[in-house]
Amino acid sequence: MTTTVLIYYDFRMLGHNPHGWDPDHPEWTDDVKAMIELQYPNSNLDTYSHPERPERLTAIVDRLLLEPVDGVRWMLPTPASATQLERSHDAAYVAHIESLDGQSGWLSKDTTAVSPGSVTAARLAAGSGISAIEVIAAGEARRAFCIVRPPGHHAPADRARGFCLYNNLAVAAAHARKALGFDRVMIWDWDMHHGNGTQAIFYDDPSVLVVDSHCAAPFYPGSGLLAETGSGAGIGYHLNVPLPTGFGNAALVEVFEQVVRPAARAFQPELLLISTGFDCHYLDMVCAMDETGYAAVTQRMSALADELCDGRLVMMLEGGYNAKALADSAYAVVEALAGKPVGALNVLAEDPGCAAASDAAAFHAKSIAAMAKTSS
Ligand SMILES: [Zn+2]
Repeated sequence: MTTTVLIYYDFRMLGHNPHGWDPDHPEWTDDVKAMIELQYPNSNLDTYSHPERPERLTAIVDRLLLEPVDGVRWMLPTPASATQLERSHDAAYVAHIESLDGQSGWLSKDTTAVSPGSVTAARLAAGSGISAIEVIAAGEARRAFCIVRPPGHHAPADRARGFCLYNNLAVAAAHARKALGFDRVMIWDWDMHHGNGTQAIFYDDPSVLVVDSHCAAPFYPGSGLLAETGSGAGIGYHLNVPLPTGFGNAALVEVFEQVVRPAARAFQPELLLISTGFDCHYLDMVCAMDETGYAAVTQRMSALADELCDGRLVMMLEGGYNAKALADSAYAVVEALAGKPVGALNVLAEDPGCAAASDAAAFHAKSIAAMAKTSS
């Protein structure tokens, strides 16, 4: 049976163009040069182009338009308002970003930058999740995939970081909680990098459960240890799953089976959100997943949403920097959301992430058991 999948996209998100084809791109600072050298050793500044570039989105959109998936409904997001952004960000920070509208400049020494169209793009990216959740809360659909940039999960309340301006998924989760009356929201961040911004924003909040699987520190951004489990009332509601570089599809499936699903059943969320990075793809940086793995975990998350929360599942794009990996992975994910049967999982002979997923499950077992008591 085909399920309706809302796809949120607005071409104005292509207007965020920190470097490459923009003749007004900001000049390199020494800090930025040093960070590029650190992240991409031996790169040449004459040929270097910012990895978070407009082609990331057009690769996905072109594939979905060339090979339409039954059930897809294209939707336009409403830009996030200052009030909506300020649920997750400091008012002074929102005002600072808004003041950069129409300008170019570096915001962070880790190569986060704005071009003249960036602030419009950031408002649309942050508004996409809100738009999706509002339609889903009204009962008009159950699944959504938001094709957005700039990404969001590295941005904490008060600064831009890691290519992220506003924390799109945090803004969406906060809207579900504060404006739409959802009591419990669960996030799985499966981007290859730890979602330090999302962690900081919800660290003391027991109404938002976060599972974050990522390449272990010291990999960027260097946070996301097992022991970072929350603070205050939020202790036990932040479950990090640090994995070794090189992990493949089987590892992410194990994270789902051993951590995400038991935690969700204990927490009883009313809405599932996924920070959907595709940078664990083997064509991207240092991991070994492919589209069969992303389809498999999407299918499992869809079934979990059906089991626990009337099917409500919203996915928002985070990282992923290889155009083919992005197009193949996003297409497989949208097919899985639409209910198309998922093909065989490609697995490594020995996946280095499986043991780490089991270790994390053992570490978090107490938190998950405590959660089950609280919500029963
Ligand atoms: Zn990433």
